[in-house]
Amino acid sequence: MAHKEKTFQFVIVGGGIAGVTCVEQLSSQIQSADVALITAGPHIKAVTNYKQVSKTLEEFDIEEQPSSVLEEKFPNLTVIHSAVKCLNTQSHAVETADGRVIGYEKLCICSGGRPKLLSDGNPYVLGIRDTDSAQALQKRLSKARRIVVVGNGGIALELVYEVEGCEVIWAVKDKAIGNTFFDAGAAQFLIPSLEADKPQSAAPCKRIRYTTEEPAAGPGSALGPDWHEGIVLRGAETTFAVWTSDSFSHPFFFSFSFFIPCFSSLSVGSWPVYIQLTNGKSFGCDFIVSATGVVPNTEPFLHGNSFALADDGGLRVDDHMMTSEPDVYAAGDVCTACWELSPLWQQMRLWTQARQMGWYAGRCMAACVLAEPIELDFCFELFSHITKFFNYKVVLLGKFNGQGLGPDHELLVRCTKGQEYVKAVLSGGKMVGAVLIGETDLEETFENLILNQMDLTQYGEDLLNPNIDIEDYFD
Ligand code: FAD
Repeated sequence: MAHKEKTFQFVIVGGGIAGVTCVEQLSSQIQSADVALITAGPHIKAVTNYKQVSKTLEEFDIEEQPSSVLEEKFPNLTVIHSAVKCLNTQSHAVETADGRVIGYEKLCICSGGRPKLLSDGNPYVLGIRDTDSAQALQKRLSKARRIVVVGNGGIALELVYEVEGCEVIWAVKDKAIGNTFFDAGAAQFLIPSLEADKPQSAAPCKRIRYTTEEPAAGPGSALGPDWHEGIVLRGAETTFAVWTSDSFSHPFFFSFSFFIPCFSSLSVGSWPVYIQLTNGKSFGCDFIVSATGVVPNTEPFLHGNSFALADDGGLRVDDHMMTSEPDVYAAGDVCTACWELSPLWQQMRLWTQARQMGWYAGRCMAACVLAEPIELDFCFELFSHITKFFNYKVVLLGKFNGQGLGPDHELLVRCTKGQEYVKAVLSGGKMVGAVLIGETDLEETFENLILNQMDLTQYGEDLLNPNIDIEDYFD
């Protein structure tokens, strides 16, 4: 590595939610701090309209903004637009793609994740990660008659719901759709929404996105929950159909093999690419969207250093967001929480957690410099997430899918077709998780019941009885 051009007190890598929140926290906590944000894309992601809904639930919007907005707010901040190519933890320096060597006293890696692709470099396989890839998808959809969506997480769910005018084959390896978030019951509740007419988008776009015509220069930020808003996901034909192979209730497993037909077989009716599923079925389509999750973006930082990595490939961080390398912190999708987790919290690579981790990493870095003690933040006590699927409000709390619980846990479910789905997860008579779909208005009560771990045995099924106002019960 060449000589350092400058050493900053704090260097943050990545202009996504985690990196930007970390910068904001540091810059406002230590106003004299010399902070550099190194990011690959031309824009940064800012949290706007932040609202604390309850003790742990939070809602906010994200906006892509030019980085100058951040620099104007924090005069001691320098934004460097270039990708980090390598890191030398011994000399406390990073080298950027344009050859600059920047020194740091404390570093926070917030480089996010990149999509796990079924097949790298295949022109017929698309991953969605950022504004550019979403636009590429939109462009290709306008000519598409049929696409195959592979994956079962939040991105796949939104995609199959949003795509119009194009046949969609959804390849799901699990028993039920959306298994990252839901069990089979919730999936059954949501399935009719796929076939139903979508409500007209009466309200104007909730969030305004700043975009430019120019494609980003390097790896961009992951999109947030509204990634499809303002992007018309419309295919070439006017019909919409969702295909699943077999039925949702029967699991089928897939392995993929792509075969691009040779020239002579490109007859009318043949497809540019075919996908073979492990249930033996093959489908032709215009392209395949690979929505099988992300892998932590650690690659530029590993060479020559000895970071401890978690099984999922993330940088292991402790309860101070510190990696195993001295003075190097990490936050957001790139890291894996490896402290002793609260029994009611789990890491999921989501927007909310990127913000919380970035904010907490900033506080930890400041506390270290100021020699102040700091304890793990309360937000890591209870997993909580608000989102929208298929136009329903969805609130997930704690071990909402019975994650890691033994067979002795109990589920209480209340479901009104087309209106609401309420599930409470109980273990040893105490509520440990919940799924609330629709306008249930139960989130605060359930959050309290989960947090205070009250024994609910005596209430039995009345807990979900719609004729009993459980709020009164527990006040
Ligand atoms: P990112 O937002 O990915 O930001 C990483 C930043 O690092 C970027 O600015 C990038 O340019 C920069 N970078 C990368 N490598 C380098 C490098 N070498 N040098 C310098 N800079 C670098 N979450 C939800 O909660 N709800 C949803 O509905 C939802 N929907 C999603 C839909 C899609 C299509 C995708 C892809 C993700 C979705 N997510 C959703 C997940 C959410 O977007 C991520 O969890 C979150 O953005 C992670 O934030 P981050 O700051 O860790 O990383």
